[in-house]
Order: sequence, then structure tokens, then C-alpha cells
Amino acid sequence: MRYNKNMVNEEKQQEDFISTVSHELRTPLTSIRGFAQTMLSSWDALDDENKKKFIQIIEQQSNRLINLVENMLSVNKLQSFKDKFVYKNASANTLIEPIVQIIKHQYPNHNFETVFNNKIPNILVDVDKFQQIMTNLIENAAKYSNEGTNITVLTDFSCCPDYILIKVIDEGIGIKEEDFDKIFTKFSRLDNPLTRRVQGSGLGLYITKTLLKKMGGEISLKSSENGTTFEIFLPVENVENQAGKPFKGCG
Ligand code: ADP
Repeated sequence: MRYNKNMVNEEKQQEDFISTVSHELRTPLTSIRGFAQTMLSSWDALDDENKKKFIQIIEQQSNRLINLVENMLSVNKLQSFKDKFVYKNASANTLIEPIVQIIKHQYPNHNFETVFNNKIPNILVDVDKFQQIMTNLIENAAKYSNEGTNITVLTDFSCCPDYILIKVIDEGIGIKEEDFDKIFTKFSRLDNPLTRRVQGSGLGLYITKTLLKKMGGEISLKSSENGTTFEIFLPVENVENQAGKPFKGCG
């Protein structure tokens, strides 16, 4: 009985996934085809400026498709348990610094700051996955805030000696408390003018939370109309195999 029920659930989940994915793929593909067709049929009538604009849109939409496919592959790996975690002792500060530099380059009109506590212990993480998590959070901070605002990445001891604390603080549009759970689910994007303007698949925070949990960490957030702070906890190196185990919390 239970087997059948699980099968039905799985099939339903798969159907929902395929229908959402098809929808997500169709939007950029329709746009790419539309602009390519317009250029082909009206090539002589279009001036160089318009041709350039259309090609830029095609490039943007192709990038959107690539990001989407990469995120979907990550989700697929996570769900099929094929994802291998290779744990290493590493300094969070050293791993975060180059990520901030790269994102700073992509968002030159935001003010990035790092406030690192140099006394925190090393963490025990899969380095690539840690970098994927930090990239998602810092990029989101820039995507969902206006140019000229501050983004701070902070590391410190946490309330529990077994974990360090990392904060990504922005002065962006904020997230309503009733949406706190929703943003960590697959394909969820909140409806506001900035989200409509910036590209995204709604998979980043789902991937972030799943990876963190698998590495024995946790994520939470605080938000108001003045901005959002994401807080992540990660196990320190000397905690007997805490990496990959459920987060114990600070209690
Ligand atoms: P994506 O950015 O690709 O849409 P995410 O899963 O990373 O997907 O985020 C889900 C949604 O959560 C975003 O679409 C946005 O509405 C909201 N969000 C994420 N980070 C922030 C942030 N720092 N400030 C405000 N809203 C955010």
C-alpha cells in the first residue's frame, strides 16, 4: 500500500517538475526564437543599433537558459543522492574573499565590505559546494538591492562553539516574514518589481539550503523593508564528524 502511495507521490512530483521546467525553458526560448525571426525577416530594414540590441537580448536569454540548466542539474544531482561531498578543512575567510571580488566586478555600483573575524576556526566543508552557497547568497544580495547600497559579508564565532557564523547583509527590498519558508522551495520567486527585472530560476536558495543541511549546517534570515540578513552556520573542523550530520543548534 505504502509503496503505491509513494509511487503516486513521486509521479506527481515528477509531473509537476516537468511542467514547471518546461514553462521555465519556454519563456527564454520563445524570446530567442522571436528575436532571431525578426532579425531574419527584417534584416535590411533594421539599423545597426537595433540589430545590436536584439543580439544582446538573445545573448541574455541564452545566459538565462544556461544558468537554469546548470541549476536544474544541481537539483537533479541533489535529489538522486549522486552528489558526492568531499570534506576538507578550510578557512571560510580565505574562501569567501575571492567570491566577493568576482561579484564586486559584476556589480560595480554596489558597495561591498567584508568584516572577517580572523580568530574563527577552520570549517569542515566541501569547498566547491561552500563556494556555490556563498556565490548564491552574495549574488542575491546584489540582485535584490539597488545600486549604491551596501553589502556586508561577515564571519564570526556563533553562539555555539561547534559552528561558525557567516552573515550576508544587504540593504535591499527585504522579504516578508510570511515568505521566509517559500523562498527555500524550488522555483519560487517572490513577486516584486525588482524580481521581475532581474534574472533567476528560483532554484538558488533551494540548492543553498539543501547543500548546507547536507554539510551539517543551517540557514536562517531576518528581514525588514530596510534589507535582509542571511545567517549561515557551519561545523568547525575539530568537531568530531559533525560535517554532514543534522545541525545541532545552539541550545
Ligand atoms: P532566484 O534569485 O534565481 O530567483 P533564489 O532561490 O535564489 O532564486 O531566490 C528565491 C527568491 O527569493 C528570489 O526570486 C527573490 O524573490 C527572493 N530573494 C532571494 N534573496 C533575496 C534578498 N537578498 N533580498 C530580497 N529577496 C530575495
